[in-house]
Amino acid sequence: TLDDIQNFEGKYPKQLWYLFLVEMWERFCFYGMRGVLAIFMVDQLLLSEKDANLKYGAIQAFVYAFTFVGGIFADKILGFKRSLTFGAILMILGNGLIAINPHDFFYFGIALTIIGTGFFKPNISSMVGDLYKEGDSRRDAGFGIFYSGINVGALLGGALCVWLGKEHSWNLAFLAAAIVMLIGIIIFLATKKQLGPIGNSPIAHLPRSKKTAWEVLVYVGALVCIPLIFIMVNNTRYTDLFMYTIGPLALGYFLYQIFRETDAKVRQKLIAALVLILFSILFFAIFEQAGGSLALFAKDNLHTNLLFFDIDPNVVNNGANSLFVIVFSPILGLLWLALAKKKLEPNTVIKFGLGFLLLGIGYYVFFGTRFFADESGKTSLGVFTLAYLAVTLGELCLSPIGLSMITKLSPRHLGGMMMGLWFLASAYGQYVAGLLGAGMSSPDEGASLMDKLLGYTAGYQQLAWYSFIAGVILIVLSPFVKRLMHGVN
Ligand code: GLN
Repeated sequence: TLDDIQNFEGKYPKQLWYLFLVEMWERFCFYGMRGVLAIFMVDQLLLSEKDANLKYGAIQAFVYAFTFVGGIFADKILGFKRSLTFGAILMILGNGLIAINPHDFFYFGIALTIIGTGFFKPNISSMVGDLYKEGDSRRDAGFGIFYSGINVGALLGGALCVWLGKEHSWNLAFLAAAIVMLIGIIIFLATKKQLGPIGNSPIAHLPRSKKTAWEVLVYVGALVCIPLIFIMVNNTRYTDLFMYTIGPLALGYFLYQIFRETDAKVRQKLIAALVLILFSILFFAIFEQAGGSLALFAKDNLHTNLLFFDIDPNVVNNGANSLFVIVFSPILGLLWLALAKKKLEPNTVIKFGLGFLLLGIGYYVFFGTRFFADESGKTSLGVFTLAYLAVTLGELCLSPIGLSMITKLSPRHLGGMMMGLWFLASAYGQYVAGLLGAGMSSPDEGASLMDKLLGYTAGYQQLAWYSFIAGVILIVLSPFVKRLMHGVN
């Protein structure tokens, strides 16, 4: 029963490790596909770099935006377990189709993957939250471990699929993504019994035929979306339109749920969650420079020696963050546990504030790389890596804590929607990140490396200041937000 699961002894529930593995494989698939996306579009579909970047951004935004839809349907009809299985199947089919014929099935496969991720990603995080009782101080540490799993997958996926694509064939890269997702879902199906009632369908009590009818409706509805996404990804003008509409719609739906809520405490908790979700947009807008402007900066403006090694700066740019997460996330988790024992653990709002301050330090160090540059405009890879360390520590104070916070503040019947909203904020973060990056780059054709260095680092200095300001605001606001959280830490 649920009590048996939630009354576990020790630091972590055993189900956490199963979900860890499943999510690891899913992220392997996701980041593997994402890693080859831009290169594939330029090399094989012969898009210009600019178009490829725009499409990449659009796909990223759609992926995270559909988590909101996936979350709602999980709450209302499917439950987390079924959503997960359905999402995984779509991701396997999507990548599998692209593997069969990358040229003809590309956009179709991507559309499937987008919807699949929407049904998968938010709901597995929600299940992690359900492993814990209300008020269990071990929850943040659990999400820390889970977050390490995410990044093991991200690291392996990015490395393996890009290598396969470049050295062997693109078919193989997408096939690998499909296979790892298959492994993930097999592990899930083999272990889901252990989750007991967690993630079961909310309409399980309905007569069988009615239940099935509802489910089929969701499946068909999801499939109907495919051509729509297909069109929107193909024509990035619609992406803007989509981003302008989905946010207000989601917010409207959220407010409607708040008004319907009769319990004032629940309502206030939801408002506290919303405040933190809104701040996370700014966080990810800055953080996600990694895939855009920082990748371009790494490509041209960095030396290749790091300590005693010679290494491609883009490998560092793509991998350092995940590597640091894998190492530091469990450590930070243990730190939170130790502090909780002494009743010294900072609350979630303060952690968010710290996250921003660390992010600011990181971007200040990115800015600072300009002081280590030679005349040609190339600068130190070591300093750049150090900046990633600070940024990652910031991420760890905000991103896994955010997942945990959502599961603490959401009432049971809105858990999926709230997790979806959390990732929808990431979608906006990605979207704004692209705009920010484009704003600070665009050096003219003839610009020297030095111009480029100065241009980008000036941008990073500005982002550092935004982070510092956001961090201070959060820390100042923390007593007020804390009051809205009614004892949730
Ligand atoms: N890197 C994390 C993941 O893939 C967080 C993503 C996000 O919230 N934007 O799950």
